[in-house]
Amino acid sequence: MKRGRKIVALAHCILNSNAKVAGIAQTPGAIPVIVEGLLRDGVGIVQLPCPEQTYGGCRRWGMTREQYDVPNYRKHCRTLLEDVVDQMEDYLRNDYEVLGIVGVDGSPSCGVDRTCVGYPGGEIASMQLLPECSIVEGRGVFLECLMSMLHDRGVSIPAVGIDEALQEALSWDELLKKLCRCGEGVGTP
Ligand code: SF4
Repeated sequence: MKRGRKIVALAHCILNSNAKVAGIAQTPGAIPVIVEGLLRDGVGIVQLPCPEQTYGGCRRWGMTREQYDVPNYRKHCRTLLEDVVDQMEDYLRNDYEVLGIVGVDGSPSCGVDRTCVGYPGGEIASMQLLPECSIVEGRGVFLECLMSMLHDRGVSIPAVGIDEALQEALSWDELLKKLCRCGEGVGTP
């Protein structure tokens, strides 16, 4: 069968919830509605690396954007993303259609429109009550690095975020519509 020449890049945990911070996965593995839609439409999938699991491992604590927004984590993100950005640029220069990037809103790393802020840091054991984190408008550190690296290459690809808390409302068709709306003028110069 002929290749479809359409590709989407998904945040790692959309295909593998095992990478998430312990206790917050909403699915046993991949998110079915997204995978089913991609299979139906014949869209190829690039799975982005999980920056947090590769940085802090499976036993990491949930952290906020401020805690991840440090030079060494940004360096880690940029290292992971070098090959991804190479791939995206090459696909676009060879007439493939990169429909976009799908991140995870609310994540301090992979949020597209919303991220998580709050904890100032400190000794957890000495805290009477853990400070609350909150979801605010803004981009996660990993997504920010990705978009900036693409921009530096002159590559423009749209990004949208899923809200995992609203699993029932998730639909690949809706995501695709959002990507198309954000994606006018995508490509390379
Ligand atoms: S860092 Fe990104 S890929 Fe990893 S678990 Fe969080 S949202 Fe998913």
